Amino acid sequence: MSLIIDCHGHYTTAPAAHTAWREAQMAAFKAGEAAPPYPAISDDDIRETLEANQIRLIKERGADMTIFSPRASAMAPHLGDERVASQWARVNNDLIARCVALYPEIFVGVCMLPQSPAADMQGSIAELQRCVDMGFVGCNLNPDPGGGHFQHPPLTDRFWYPFYEKMVELDVPAMIHVSGSCNPGLHATGAYYIAADIIAFMQLIEGDLFRDFPNLRFIIPHGGGAVPYHWGRYRGLADMLKKPDLQSHLMDNVFFDTCVYHQPGVDLLAKVIDSKNILFGSEMVGAVRGIDPETGHYFDDTKRYVDALPITPEQKHAIFEGNARRVFARLDAKLRERGR
Ligand SMILES: [Zn+2]
Repeated sequence: MSLIIDCHGHYTTAPAAHTAWREAQMAAFKAGEAAPPYPAISDDDIRETLEANQIRLIKERGADMTIFSPRASAMAPHLGDERVASQWARVNNDLIARCVALYPEIFVGVCMLPQSPAADMQGSIAELQRCVDMGFVGCNLNPDPGGGHFQHPPLTDRFWYPFYEKMVELDVPAMIHVSGSCNPGLHATGAYYIAADIIAFMQLIEGDLFRDFPNLRFIIPHGGGAVPYHWGRYRGLADMLKKPDLQSHLMDNVFFDTCVYHQPGVDLLAKVIDSKNILFGSEMVGAVRGIDPETGHYFDDTKRYVDALPITPEQKHAIFEGNARRVFARLDAKLRERGR
């Protein structure tokens, strides 16, 4: 029996006091004052928000655990300055650490980073180290900290290298994940997220990042954006750009999750992308919360789609458990300690 590991969950239901503090932090920044002290949030407040939402759905849907990070759309590192971003990352990651401490069998932590747009990656390196020291197994790396303007250098640029060196040293992967959109032309979850996934993949094609970092591992979420659907385009572009074929150029290092909210999409993903590169993910409770009237099931109940794939039990095991343990090496170590 495979463990069912959801590689992509966010604390979208964080206690109201946490969200209210963010507003107070921003108001204080605008007024040129120090942020008020972070509120006391009880263990019961955290339990309530998780048990009514993520934990209920994990159980209802038959999953076992979720790789859990702060709410992505609220990361918003472009708000305030580097100090504000750093403080916000810290309180969010501390809150995830508390979720994990309360439910160590269900949650494992992935951190957000204080990627203030004008900053280099030093603050993010320090926060990653702090979080790994708390038991986190990965991070969410934002390729566009400006929030929808894509002014940062491509992910293959040396700007990012000090951070990659730290990731390799700590043996943790990154999920490439943007935050909210401050561009009115880019709907956050419908356009910006998916566009960023595709942009990241194309940047990786154009560069030679994994020649410099053969052990670096990225998960491109939301099924890889539209990349699997346009796989022929990317294979053709790699060929035109005189890059190796995509399998040897990228696919030892790049993984896609299954946050694709209908059966034909997951079918296509599994048909085009090798099962060794697919991690089960749902992004619940997240982007699309409703019930699909065509099936009567939640759009984001992606386990159903994977269950229905016409693939071997070994391939399903890879998607549900094996690949997550390979990509999140520190999670694998934790599970081994527990005899799993
Ligand atoms: Zn997400």
